This record gives sequence, C-alpha cells and structure tokens, in this order.
Amino acid sequence: MTDAGKIAIVTGAARGIGREICRELLDAGMTVVGVDINDALFAEAVKALGSPQTLEFRKLDVTDSAAFEALVDDVVAKYGRIDVLVNNAGITRDGLLMRMSDEDWELVLKVNLFSAFYGTRAAAKYMVRQRGGSIINMSSYSGREGNRGQANYAASKAGMIGLTKTTAKELAGKAVRCNAVAPGFIETEMTAVLPQQAKDIALSLIPMKTMGQPADIAKAVRFLASDDSKYITAQVISVDGGMHT
Ligand code: NAD
Repeated sequence: MTDAGKIAIVTGAARGIGREICRELLDAGMTVVGVDINDALFAEAVKALGSPQTLEFRKLDVTDSAAFEALVDDVVAKYGRIDVLVNNAGITRDGLLMRMSDEDWELVLKVNLFSAFYGTRAAAKYMVRQRGGSIINMSSYSGREGNRGQANYAASKAGMIGLTKTTAKELAGKAVRCNAVAPGFIETEMTAVLPQQAKDIALSLIPMKTMGQPADIAKAVRFLASDDSKYITAQVISVDGGMHT
C-alpha cells in the first residue's frame, strides 16, 4: 500500500518531537492518532498542526498496559488497520546514580521503555495479520553512549535498542519492520530546562556545533514509516549532528 491512507499512532504527540512527527505523517497522507498523557495541550497541538480531518488526539498514559492495548484495539475497530506505531513518549528524571531514588529509576524505565513494549505487543498482533507495518522507537544518543546523570534515561534508551532489534527479528518474516531513531541534542521543552552549563557541554560534543530541531527527527521517522524504507529493519538511525559514529 502507499503511504497515503496509512493509519498511524504516535505517542507523546502533544508537543516537541512527537508533534512534529504528527505533522510529517499527516503531510505524507496518513491518518494520525496522537496520544499523550497531557490533554491540556491537545487544542493547541491540533491548531498548530492545521486542524486536519485526518488527525485526532486521545488521552493515554503509556505506562498503562491495558489502556494502551485497548487504545490500539479501538483504533483498529474504527479505522480497520494499524500501519505505523511511533513509540516517542519519554521523560527525564536526571541525577547522579548514587543519589537516584528508586522512584526516579522506575518511572523513567516505565514511561520510556515499558510503554514501547506494551504498544508494540498490542500493535504487532494486527500488523502480523495484515502482513505489514512499521514500528519506530525513540532511542537517544544517551542510550548508545551513556551520559553522566542519566543512569535511568540511558538504560531506558539502550533498552529501546534491544527491543527494536528483537522486535525486528521476530516480525521480519511477516513484513513488519521495527527501527529506532537516536536523536542527539534537540531543541524542545525537554532540553530547554537544562542548566546553561549542561547545554554548553552538550553543544561542545556536537560536530555540527548546533542543536537539532524536532523536524530533523520527524523527517527520519517519516522515512522509516514510509514504504521508501521497505527493506530497512532492525536499524538505529542517529540524527545527532555527527555525535555518534
Ligand atoms: P517533550 O518533553 O517535549 O515531549 C514529550 C511528550 O511525552 C510530552 O507531550 C509529554 O506529555 C508526553 N508524555 C510524557 N509521559 C507520558 C506518558 N506517561 N504517557 C503519554 N505521554 C507522555 O520531549 P521531546 O524532547 O519532544 O522528546 C520526545 C522523545 O525524544 C522522548 O522519548 C525523548 O526521550 C526523545 N529524545 C529527545 C531528545 C532531545 O534532545 N529533546 C534527545 C534524545 C531523545
């Protein structure tokens, strides 16, 4: 099938990178169900995306396995299929590991990694039956390299890579693909809250000497969601200004 008319679910869709992913997939002609825990952002996000008929937002806490499965079931009941799942929702709770609380460790693993497993399992059952689908997981440079102050976050994003490769290997024979995108340092509200010193250190590590924009990530996701990448699976694509080589 062509990309136009595909049905996509994007998590963490109400702002930042997720919102730009919605924009790209809508532009490719897909119908997009954006989900987010923060429904207060929905009206603004819909407006920013030009209020297309092919976009809807639904409230979901991606750490709720049963609710995530119910949402996927409901999307398939309404639209007849699910072609693309983008596991993008993510949070940070930074701190040095010796001082990191169990709560901060567990919450970040749950939101960033467990959720992707719940969504993937729920969507895969339909994609396998359809004999086609593309799952895209949001990893990070931190997950590839580790990052001081981010034991929980880096572990969750490294976990995304293992989940991606395993999903790809299990489902490749059914024409279901799974890839990850590993952003570097991207200008969103997630990074806006960092102290200037942390921003300066991050910038000094980027060969291209500038932060990325949400659209830079969204365009890579669009490619992986599209049939243009139909022979690509089990890959991690860095979009980071040259940091990871
Ligand atoms: P952001 O904080 O701007 O947006 C994240 C979105 O996820 C928010 O709308 C938030 O409400 C939603 N969310 C949080 N918890 C949720 C939950 N339990 N259920 C549903 N939705 C939830 O972040 P961003 O910068 O746009 O990051 C998007 C993704 O990209 C994340 O996975 C992040 O880890 C990853 N990433 C970002 C950067 C960066 O530099 N910004 C770098 C590497 C990776």
